Amino acid sequence: MKVLQSLAEVKEWRCSLAPDESLGLVPTMGTLHAGHRSLLAAARTGCDRVALSIFVNPKQFAASEDLGAYPQHAEEDLESAAEEGVDLVWFTREEEMYPERFVTRVELLPLADRLCGKARPHHFGGVALVVLKLFNIFAPRRAYFGNKDFQQATIIERMVADLNLDIEIVRCPLVREPDGIALSSRNLNLSREGRRSALALSRGLFAAGELHAGGERDVSSLLLAASGVIRSEARVELEYLELVDPTSLEPFDQVVPDGGALLLVAAMLDGVRLIDNLFLGGGDGSRDEGSG
Ligand code: AMP
Repeated sequence: MKVLQSLAEVKEWRCSLAPDESLGLVPTMGTLHAGHRSLLAAARTGCDRVALSIFVNPKQFAASEDLGAYPQHAEEDLESAAEEGVDLVWFTREEEMYPERFVTRVELLPLADRLCGKARPHHFGGVALVVLKLFNIFAPRRAYFGNKDFQQATIIERMVADLNLDIEIVRCPLVREPDGIALSSRNLNLSREGRRSALALSRGLFAAGELHAGGERDVSSLLLAASGVIRSEARVELEYLELVDPTSLEPFDQVVPDGGALLLVAAMLDGVRLIDNLFLGGGDGSRDEGSG
């Protein structure tokens, strides 16, 4: 496994691949867990070569957010990457990604200003910008994203279609811990008590899921079932809870259609921002469900 830092070396590595070798790219911010590893495993199965980028991208954090507190565990990440059979790890440097005089922006309104974008208006522009740069640098055949960040994956798919990028986006299912909590690098910043309270998010989603499985289609009833469980944890500050169309991310306001709906939640807990989602209707709502 090659471990590189400089952009020039990464480009050289890319050029050394044979034209018919397929490259799978897995962009991350590091502190790898089983969710990230599921993406790496899917890339390993689906491609000849696998590249992992690790970069806590400052352009997707507002000044008031947790950029400085974002966990970093490079040594452990290298062990995980080696175990998953990764060919190249790139520890991206900020000064090479965003050199002096960098001004370009990427905008994907209105997809980017709803759900997480309401509280984080610059977030998805920053994500799309760094992912577009990574696509240009690596020219991968496939890139792997998790449905844990459902809105992000939808936005990246849109950008690829809009800009005619010749890259297949593979969406991988959300991975949970056995007790139901969605795996996230940020879970490491929760106290033991906070970790326990965080379970209210997945439990709330599951409560709505059970109601939906029993035939309930009324949006208010489904949202109430979830919010009742979530609000029972006083430490959880609910940011949003919405039932949306998984493709357009447009909210449903009366009844959910037979095809199903995506229930998404975001909340703050002990100063840590957590997100989760559940597709009501079976599967995980992505068109490319579980493939790769
Ligand atoms: P991050 O390091 O948080 O930027 O995430 C990098 C990639 O891993 C993104 O495509 C995420 O959606 C994906 N990912 C993070 N957590 C999970 C999870 N629990 N299940 C599946 N994919 C995940």
